[in-house]
Amino acid sequence: MTHPTRNIAVLGATGSIGQSTIEVVEASEGRLNVVGISGHSQTEKLCLAAQRVQPDMVVVTDPASNIDTEMLPSGCQLLSGEEQVISLVQHEQVDIVVAAIVGFAGLRGTWAALEKGKTVALANKETLVVGGPLVMKLANDNAAKIIPVDSEHSAVFQALQGAEISQVKRIILTASGGPFLHHTQDQLDAVTVEEALAHPTWQMGPKITVDSATMMNKALEIIEARWLFDVPVEKIDVAIHPQSIVHSLVEFEDGSVMAQMSPPDMKLPIQYALSYPDRWPSPSKKLDLTEAFSCDFLPADTERFPALALGMEVAGQGGTAGAVFNAANETAVAHFLDGRLQFNRIVHACRAILEYHDFDPNPSLEQLTQLDAWARKETIQWIGA
Ligand code: NAD
Ligand code: MG
Repeated sequence: MTHPTRNIAVLGATGSIGQSTIEVVEASEGRLNVVGISGHSQTEKLCLAAQRVQPDMVVVTDPASNIDTEMLPSGCQLLSGEEQVISLVQHEQVDIVVAAIVGFAGLRGTWAALEKGKTVALANKETLVVGGPLVMKLANDNAAKIIPVDSEHSAVFQALQGAEISQVKRIILTASGGPFLHHTQDQLDAVTVEEALAHPTWQMGPKITVDSATMMNKALEIIEARWLFDVPVEKIDVAIHPQSIVHSLVEFEDGSVMAQMSPPDMKLPIQYALSYPDRWPSPSKKLDLTEAFSCDFLPADTERFPALALGMEVAGQGGTAGAVFNAANETAVAHFLDGRLQFNRIVHACRAILEYHDFDPNPSLEQLTQLDAWARKETIQWIGA
């Protein structure tokens, strides 16, 4: 049977979300066609992805990276440099852009796609953390859709189908709690890079894995939800759910709570963002109700995980706070991964830089870009590296 085809571009195809997207495409029975893919530096992995999905275009965003063109499928156009992401996402054939570049670097491609009214399947939460109001306005002005890929936001988005946001009492984001859920303060002080990279339920790229361990990931997701669903931060809660089966919950005015459940596997939210509003068979793991399993829920501990309170504050402030917070976190995480910053100091670094910056409630994109660079420099100084 043939199906109507949706034409997609995959930014960050060599990453964890990018590779899962390739699997979703392969299982789509022709429903998804890949116009182009991008990767930063792992060029062999990028070529292997190209061989699997046969795109028309491949973008290598790091101009210093060499690529063995013999490994590319025949007829595939090779483009090099960060600005080529714009040519790819704005290509007339592209319907949906999977935004799966990590960090602030992901903003450019998403912005360019929204400018042309393309649908964005958004994995890159940093885009909304940095420039939530501007990004949502751009989407609105160009009648472009942003469909969340982040599993919590996908869960909320699914629970909201057929509902009005005005009837929502609370959005409850679930968090696995990461590898250190039951660690004491002393144990948290001694966390190693290896321990932080061993997430109990999710396989992800290194930056988001560290973010999950500090609970910064949930802080970023609170901010992401605030702008994506246009709800005040007072309506957003976090609950710890170690099994990562309930991906989030929406409580309505009448007390009814809708949850979305599935085993922890990003292929489902990725596919839903690409199939929306349709659904079709997915290669993701399925819930097995023939075996006993439990779903626990615990309140979040903001004393041991101060990132949560910080996320709530930044979501409440808006303006320039998100961009500074994000840049400080990206810099601090990179230093932690290089062994130059203690695990517990990541959140302290973010708070210090945030408090030090000149807050502006209505920044432009240019201002946010400058602040991103400023906050990175200040964080390096604070760390003393
Ligand atoms: P990853 O580190 O595995 O992959 C990152 C991708 O971005 C790679 O393809 C890399 O080549 C590309 N990249 C890195 N730096 C770049 C730059 N300067 N310019 C252009 N491209 C660059 O990361 P990931 O885990 O796949 O996460 C990607 C995004 O999705 C992040 O924003 C993350 O927060 C979000 N996300 C990931 C998951 C997950 O399960 N992995 C879940 C929810 C949300
Ligand atoms: Mg998430």
